[in-house]
Amino acid sequence: MVTEMSVVVPIFNEEDVLPLFVGRLRPVLDRLGVPYEVVAVDDGSTDTSPILLQRFHRDWPELRIVRLRANAGHQAAMSAGLQLARGAWIASIDADLQDPPEVLADMLSMATSEQADVVYGVRNDRSSDTRFKRLTARAFYRTMRAVGTVDAPLDAGDFRLISRATADAVNALPEHGRVLRLVIPSLGFPSAEVHYRRDERAAGVSKYPLSKMIRLTLDSLTGFSQAPLRLATWFGLFGFVVASGLLLYALAVNITGHALPGWTSTVVVVAAFAGLQLLCLGILGEYVGRIYSAQQGRPTHYIAYDSLASDENPPSAP
Ligand code: UDP
Ligand code: MG
Repeated sequence: MVTEMSVVVPIFNEEDVLPLFVGRLRPVLDRLGVPYEVVAVDDGSTDTSPILLQRFHRDWPELRIVRLRANAGHQAAMSAGLQLARGAWIASIDADLQDPPEVLADMLSMATSEQADVVYGVRNDRSSDTRFKRLTARAFYRTMRAVGTVDAPLDAGDFRLISRATADAVNALPEHGRVLRLVIPSLGFPSAEVHYRRDERAAGVSKYPLSKMIRLTLDSLTGFSQAPLRLATWFGLFGFVVASGLLLYALAVNITGHALPGWTSTVVVVAAFAGLQLLCLGILGEYVGRIYSAQQGRPTHYIAYDSLASDENPPSAP
């Protein structure tokens, strides 16, 4: 039977919210009236999430479990799910019920009525997020729009529906550490938007600490913008102008015979330029590091288990 819809769910230590999530997702998908699969990507959870998933799988055959060998991160887990999903349409949704599963039905009907390859879920109300999350998210989307090379819709996270053609295009990219919410708009396929209210996390705590947020931002910036590299050029130009001025000044002072000890100014100039140089080196390093890891070509994740494979070849009875 042809799978019409795949729903990819990255899961990392979500034991508190999984029963609620499954309870809300299943009726929505059953009501769609089309063959579907849920690809639950267990991103190396260390709590009871894998056990819970197995339990749900027993009486919900459409729930497919894919377990990664180690925590690979939200984006890598989603990419893994995208690669394995078989549906004609592929949705991605967080497990914490911040993205309402009911919207999936709207996305699917929107995709067919608008003939869109991509339907973004756009949050028109983030009042349930913390102030810090709102501020950082705002800065993220605005910066990426200002310096990035892609016009990603504002406030569209990873709640979206894409067509098979879009998924194939994304899967064919060799890119490492890809940020799907930017890679997908960058394809430029016909798109539509569904607006929704972002709810509070139904249970459990955020799995996105500041360190992971910073990593996502760096991946986004280096993946879609060369502005930081250009920044280094501007710093260099600025430094050259200042240094030329200082040179003229120093010559003038020397010629007029007013040379002063000038210790402070020397220290300030040396420290300021050393700082700028280190910053520029750091920026270069971010890009070089990514070229390096792309060159190594190591996979971003390893699959430990796929319930589909074991369902199709059940272990023979003794
Ligand atoms: N997640 C994951 N791997 C990680 C971190 C998060 O698969 O390393 C999943 C998590 O289980 C959830 C989704 O990604 O389904 C979004 O994470 P979370 O809700 O914690 O992020 P926030 O909404 O706080 O930004
Ligand atoms: Mg969340």
